[in-house]
Amino acid sequence: MASNSANVPKQRVTILGATGSVGVSTLDVIARHPDRYSLFALTANTNWKRLASQCVTFSPRFAVLKQAENADLLRERLQQNKCTTEVLTGTDGLCVVAADENVDTVMAAIVGGAGLQATMAAARAGKKLLLANKESLVMSGQLFMETVAREGATLLPIDSEHNAIFQCLANGASGHANGVRKILLTGSGGPLLRDPIESLGRVTPDRACAHPNWDMGRKISVDSASMMNKGLEFIEACWLFSVTPRDIEVVIHPQSLVHSMVEYIDGSVIAQLGNPDMRTPIAHGLAWPERIESGVPGLDFSALSGLHFEPVDLNRYPCLKLCQEVANQAQSYAIALNAANEVAVQQFLDELISFTDIPIIIDAVLEQTSSEEALTIEAIVSLDSVARIRAQEAIGKK
Ligand code: NAD
Ligand code: MG
Repeated sequence: MASNSANVPKQRVTILGATGSVGVSTLDVIARHPDRYSLFALTANTNWKRLASQCVTFSPRFAVLKQAENADLLRERLQQNKCTTEVLTGTDGLCVVAADENVDTVMAAIVGGAGLQATMAAARAGKKLLLANKESLVMSGQLFMETVAREGATLLPIDSEHNAIFQCLANGASGHANGVRKILLTGSGGPLLRDPIESLGRVTPDRACAHPNWDMGRKISVDSASMMNKGLEFIEACWLFSVTPRDIEVVIHPQSLVHSMVEYIDGSVIAQLGNPDMRTPIAHGLAWPERIESGVPGLDFSALSGLHFEPVDLNRYPCLKLCQEVANQAQSYAIALNAANEVAVQQFLDELISFTDIPIIIDAVLEQTSSEEALTIEAIVSLDSVARIRAQEAIGKK
């Protein structure tokens, strides 16, 4: 069955973080539907070569290179290829292409707190906002959700679990008033699920990044191994679906085929299943409330050997435990946790600290954090900077 999009104006899309794993998957889906989507802007941090080749293929109106050093090399490369894409730089450039009046849809796929300002700019401009950058919501929960509501932005979750939950909730409505008993947030447990706990201190970055089911950027891969990713998703789900930590249960599901579930008060459990491929939630977000082809094949149930679930062992995953605690606390704690994690994960990837140091560093930073709501971007950015310095200090004392 072909989708009928004749006479529908094309959605003009900005992809923040176009050169990353989610960005590339988004371009893959968009390339399948040239009748529906055109690219307004593509952005990258430093990878100007990949950004240049994406611009030559998709001819967006703007390309933004966050780090300005190589902007001239990018311009030259585009000129050589007779590509008329205009090059902007810096956080200002990111915010401009997220909020421009000629943009309909923004894919927020920058990794980490670095994505906060541009993601927020898209929310402020009332865009259709496809949210992959979970860290920005974790950092700014209340401000972000209030901005989305006030400006009439359409917020669609791209994180596969939240996209699944969104699909399992009737009209996106959660809470007991809508018959929802709880949200079952599934997680694979990552590549270290069966490793002896005593051996986790010796895990190498490559091993932590070798996720059994998903092919992702290195930061989120380490977060998956520590289940910090599930913890950030736990906080993300509280904000997205207006539920409390008590309403969410984390369940280990090593195969990553059930992407999450919703249990209703009548005992019904609705699950969303599919192959672990981000093109499914991306296509869902791009086309919502319609459906489009994503390039992802359906599940072959006759080849499945069963679906396995088990409870989560919080002794194995202290980062998840920290997130569950922080989900009940003031915004300043979530900001501190996210910042400390980003610093610690980078140090682990650079082989300067061990895998098991990550929760120790985060805990040390949380210990120094006091309870504060942060309802402006300036307050959030300031708490984030302080927590990053404290994380560096905690690493220095090791
Ligand atoms: P990635 O590392 O593959 O790509 C990150 C992108 O952000 C790149 O385009 C990079 O150039 C850009 N970027 C990095 N630092 C930046 C900075 N300081 N300023 C501006 N741009 C910067 O990451 P990813 O795996 O694609 O993840 C992106 C986001 O999506 C993360 O928040 C992650 O948690 C979320 N997410 C990813 C997946 C996945 O399957 N990869 C799934 C769910 C959610
Ligand atoms: Mg996820």
